[in-house]
Amino acid sequence: MRESGRQRVVFLDRDGTINEDVEYLSNPSGLVIIEGAGKAIRLLNERGIKVIVVTNQSGVGRGYFKDSDVEAVNARLKELLARDGASIDASYHCPHRPDEGCECRKPGTALAKRAAKEHGADLSRAYVVGDKSSDIGLARNLFAKGVLVLTGKGAKEAEGLVEPPDFIAQDLLSAVEWILEDMERTGG
Ligand SMILES: [Mg+2]
Ligand SMILES: [Zn+2]
Repeated sequence: MRESGRQRVVFLDRDGTINEDVEYLSNPSGLVIIEGAGKAIRLLNERGIKVIVVTNQSGVGRGYFKDSDVEAVNARLKELLARDGASIDASYHCPHRPDEGCECRKPGTALAKRAAKEHGADLSRAYVVGDKSSDIGLARNLFAKGVLVLTGKGAKEAEGLVEPPDFIAQDLLSAVEWILEDMERTGG
């Protein structure tokens, strides 16, 4: 066991990273896990690394669906991941529209910082994996390492990135494989 506050953490985006990206996903029955994502999360679980989902859900602020719909999708996600022996330690979502100027919408750091506090996670050694530049921006703002996946919107986002990610991965599974190697390289 690591001392408290020294817990390793990987922050994962949800849509386009763990599950197929569907515009404003609000119906749990529409949820499809991306190939290999369950295994990827299980690899992190097996090493005692915290897996925390941080997701922008502006569909709530836009009135397209409710917080309870986000929770219902999360519950379904949990169920599907369990089939692969994988589990997420916690999920946080920003319900705001971009124009609300909140501090929790990625690349804002409020949710990740709250999660780190609640789970005793070490932000200085954190990783963020996602399919958008806002995910890489979150990594930068946290002084963490960012991995862009080419699933979801990733392939398109890769063309227009201002700041390069630390690694570009085909999908979540190869992102996690890189992260585990990187942790080893940098001293576990
Ligand atoms: Mg995404
Ligand atoms: Zn917010």
